[in-house]
Amino acid sequence: MIPLFSSSAANAGVDLAAAVKRVLDSNWYVLGNEVTSFEREFAQFVGSAECVSLANGTDALELALRALGVMPQDTVACVANAGFYGSTAIHAVGATPLYVDVDSVSLNMAASSLQAALAHKPKVVIITHLYGQMADIEALTRMAHEAGAAVIEDCAQSHGAMRDGRRAGSVGDIGCFSFYPTKNLGALGDGGAVTCNDPALAAKVRTLRQYGWSTKYCVATPQGRNSRLDEMQAAILRDKLKQLDSWNAQRREIAAKYNAAFAALPVTRPPSTGEDYVAHLYVLRLEAREAFREHLRSRNVATDVHYPIADHRQPAYPAARAAGSLAHTESACGNVVSLPCFPGLPEAQVAEVIDAVRSFFAG
Ligand SMILES: *Cc1c(COP(=O)(O)O)cnc(C)c1O
Repeated sequence: MIPLFSSSAANAGVDLAAAVKRVLDSNWYVLGNEVTSFEREFAQFVGSAECVSLANGTDALELALRALGVMPQDTVACVANAGFYGSTAIHAVGATPLYVDVDSVSLNMAASSLQAALAHKPKVVIITHLYGQMADIEALTRMAHEAGAAVIEDCAQSHGAMRDGRRAGSVGDIGCFSFYPTKNLGALGDGGAVTCNDPALAAKVRTLRQYGWSTKYCVATPQGRNSRLDEMQAAILRDKLKQLDSWNAQRREIAAKYNAAFAALPVTRPPSTGEDYVAHLYVLRLEAREAFREHLRSRNVATDVHYPIADHRQPAYPAARAAGSLAHTESACGNVVSLPCFPGLPEAQVAEVIDAVRSFFAG
């Protein structure tokens, strides 16, 4: 089976043992030199003044909301096609998600739908760069700021994506990253971070990630918790960060091959293979998705659906609120399908995936 992702390919050429040994030799496992160095290096990579590392990407979203002052009575605008992670964070704070439709081409938040949502005075707008494709973050941020809303970028799928020299995570008020193993920059376990330019905002997240402490054992800020990246993961992430741009280029190259091969097929392809797309997922849209997936399975090609259930359709939260129609969101949930696209995917397997896809339409 050609998999959707391969851990061994993702870590090929990385000396994991050396990174772990550095930590073992230091005898220091939590909040030490590796974490401090990773935060400095990742902030520099993103082009932000500050980086605060955390235990995972969902904590990054939640602590970003708390640092921006979101309270239980507040509304937070976000899309409904991005896997419920933003919604999880909003519910954890006790605030209310207000769902905003996506653009039919990019599948990222649509400016016209955000305009309608801003009338509800959300405190924050979470903008996800889905599948590694940057949203129209500059325009959306301008609109949100004019309406007095802060902007969180969800960059969990877009490490390194860039437009006009600015990386995802450096445009809004705060960027949220996950280093889950399958992400473009992945640890050997959970990890996360926020990036921002405001030292006061970074200081709030730093306090919240460690029990709300101002100094040791002095709890000065409510709603703190333990959400720390550990030294082993930080050491591994530092080594992997050096290769991120080249891995993203490999992902993009595979996506470009797929896009060229599928140009004449009755499918909708990712809109960009430029710098603003880091091909975290290569997602086609087509009718007859289940028959397509079955055909690919028969040809030993794994597929998945990101994501089959829109946030406002999740059974745990039946009273979900939307700012207008979510027609593009719902249509996408019904016809998106992800193909194998990861660094280290052999050229011969890329060709096999292409053959398998073409043969479905030739049949
Ligand atoms: C993976 C992901 C997250 C959550 O990250 P975790 O580290 O798994 O908590 C958030 N947002 C998006 C878009 C993701 O893909």
